[in-house]
Amino acid sequence: MLVVMQSGASAAQVETVRQRIEAMGLKAHVMPGAERTAIGVTGNTGPIDPTSIANLSGVKEVVRVTKPFKLVSREMRAESTVVEVAGARFGAAEFPVIAGPCAVESEAQALGIAHAVRAAGAQLFRGGAFKPRTSPYSFQGLGREGLAILKRVRAETGLGIVTEALDTETLEQVAEVADMVQIGARNMQNFSLLRRAGRCGKPVLLKRGMSATVEELLMSAEYLLAEGNRQVVLCERGVRTFADHSRNTLDLSAVVVVQELSHLPIVVDPSHGTGRRDQVGPLARAALAVGCNGLMIEVHHDPDRALSDGAQSLGLQGFEGVMAELRALASTLGRQLQPVPSFP
Ligand code: PEP
Ligand code: MN
Repeated sequence: MLVVMQSGASAAQVETVRQRIEAMGLKAHVMPGAERTAIGVTGNTGPIDPTSIANLSGVKEVVRVTKPFKLVSREMRAESTVVEVAGARFGAAEFPVIAGPCAVESEAQALGIAHAVRAAGAQLFRGGAFKPRTSPYSFQGLGREGLAILKRVRAETGLGIVTEALDTETLEQVAEVADMVQIGARNMQNFSLLRRAGRCGKPVLLKRGMSATVEELLMSAEYLLAEGNRQVVLCERGVRTFADHSRNTLDLSAVVVVQELSHLPIVVDPSHGTGRRDQVGPLARAALAVGCNGLMIEVHHDPDRALSDGAQSLGLQGFEGVMAELRALASTLGRQLQPVPSFP
């Protein structure tokens, strides 16, 4: 249920409504908007009688939310949410690009790539310190040492850091360093991890599971918002299909559907979405054209020797080329790649 306040409603009126909701044993989520404040109500197992709230002063209307996901739905909030991460804005006219290696391999590797992607126009640096690998014998990431390297990358380049939290044990360490905590495809329905990420105090990048529907993705995002974290960006990263010409099938129609159903921004990851370097640039342009809110791209200085996901990683020059093409396309679409924040 959603309580829509009148545009001139006072803070005291909002507070009275909040208290009435909580007194009913329900949870109130106060959402101030540009026009007026709305209050999302969750925690009910059956329908709620809205009359006792509808009659309170300052209340414009009480609306039933028909979708199974509530706080993430457009019914709950018509305006698009803008998530700001170290100066990069997701969900507005800007088009931020997150770039970097799949995994942090060494300080020299991470710093070298960070300087290069920054020069090419990326706003945020990605790199995994804790890696979810299919095989237990593959490189698992540098762990804590990787996080320390990421800290130095931010100090030296000014780029905000996006890095994955793999489990509840290491989430806090990751959140301490990350400007944005990534929840990977394999963990999209790890509900205890989602609840903790919902309380971590940092923006979250939630990747779609490889066989998850859009509704399941939005239900997972609901866990984050239900815990009080509204700084959530979704990520389409491809799903499993019968097609074998790419690692996954990048589902760009999911962008359209998510933007219709939810106020949360959605970015596209054409690297995991295709698994093939030659497909990354074309699909990155398609993602921009479909109207997504940013990109995540894997870049490595020596892709053929990368410790993970080399086949889908762009080289430094390749990334520069893709950025130039995106810039040209963005201008014809009336969008702008965000200028890189200045840094001494
Ligand atoms: C990654 O971003 O490096 C990653 C492991 O992605 P995904 O969870 O989408 O497979
Ligand atoms: Mn990867």
